[in-house]
Amino acid sequence: MSIDKQPSCNDSFEAEAVRVDDALRAILVRTPVIAEHEKLPLRDGLHRVLSHDILSPLDVPAHNNSAMDGYALASRDLPAEGNKLFRLAGKAYAGAPFTGECGENECIRVMTGAVMPDRTDTVVIQEDTRVEDSYHVAIGPGHRKSQNVRFIGEDIRKGFAVLNQGHRIKPADLGVLASLGINECRVYRKPRVCFFSTGDELRSLGEPLNAGEIYDSNRYSLFGLLSECQVDLIDMGVVGDRPEALRETLLAASRCADVILTSGGVSVGEADYIRDILQDIGSMEFWKIAMKPGRPLTCGSIGNSMFFGLPGNPVAVMVTFYQFVLPALIHMSGTDYHAPAYLPARCLSDIRKNPGRREYQRAIARQDENGALQVELTGKQGSGILTSMSLANCFIVLPEERGSVAAGEQVDVQFFNQYFH
Ligand code: AMP
Ligand code: MG
Repeated sequence: MSIDKQPSCNDSFEAEAVRVDDALRAILVRTPVIAEHEKLPLRDGLHRVLSHDILSPLDVPAHNNSAMDGYALASRDLPAEGNKLFRLAGKAYAGAPFTGECGENECIRVMTGAVMPDRTDTVVIQEDTRVEDSYHVAIGPGHRKSQNVRFIGEDIRKGFAVLNQGHRIKPADLGVLASLGINECRVYRKPRVCFFSTGDELRSLGEPLNAGEIYDSNRYSLFGLLSECQVDLIDMGVVGDRPEALRETLLAASRCADVILTSGGVSVGEADYIRDILQDIGSMEFWKIAMKPGRPLTCGSIGNSMFFGLPGNPVAVMVTFYQFVLPALIHMSGTDYHAPAYLPARCLSDIRKNPGRREYQRAIARQDENGALQVELTGKQGSGILTSMSLANCFIVLPEERGSVAAGEQVDVQFFNQYFH
């Protein structure tokens, strides 16, 4: 389904299912980018997204300098053949330059990082020299002009954009910015995410369980997932299947959230009210997605907040978070979303599958004794079996068209830890 024929709330539950990629594209088109930005001390910017280009105030390196311990000299004095004696005219250290001039057939002892002395352009490493006496060094043929010299601005040129708007700050970037003397960065504000669980059967931790009740686990796995994103979290607890309470909670969330996340109550059961409420106080689209687990997904808006109604089943919550909510949060943070690479792996398990929908099977991938990637299911794969997820380090992604997999066949793997980058 293309963007011009998007799924809508008019599609009945039985209408043709939407492909995962089409649903994701439709979600990203609807996802706004946070407009506000803030200035932070450099270290606090780690993993945040730059709201402006950063222009370098300096050349890096700031001077031509030696890349090695050795002797700096003028390349025109180098011998074409045979050894030649150079007079040792001084010493330069990183941070303590030689202030005199290097005369003809003279050399200066230089340490790594030392500024290249005047009239020198080449460094001969100390291993390639022979010290004759306290004042003379012998150097043979075969050296090249400019060897072992790091040139001014060769890493970063003054005035050039060293990092661009939309770039997520990585550890190396902190180092690059520090090398420029920059101790602050301007980044987009973090998205604010309100989340709550719905269901009369849910109890919070610490409460006793009556017959038929279960502990609310979705709020904990969602907390874990959201904590790995650069977002501010507001946990709004558990709300029972009561239309008035759900409506009040959604309205309260919409007053402060960029994104509202709920789990449960979005299918077509008798206690599934969220969709009706959303149609009333906002707008919504209900998609039956051609995927397993995670088939029903509600997406919409209330005021300025984007809304995701995730399924109730604990594994489906996590799968739909990875596939739809996380990309939206990344896009909203001001940077492009790139799905984690599919890595080919040899599957050790038999997997039964009908063509027609994409499946996200939970699995453990690791290297075999030859260094090749192999992958194995974590056991039973029901969408309520959360241990299948907690034991796993990746999804086996089986495309829509694929049927069953026999052990030994190749499958695609997506590692969980790659979703966040
Ligand atoms: P629902 O979509 O509300 O019909 O829920 C589908 C299934 O997921 C039911 O078995 C629910 O009990 C279960 N479920 C819903 N929400 C949660 C939750 N927060 N924690 C654990 N299980 C849940
Ligand atoms: Mg429910």
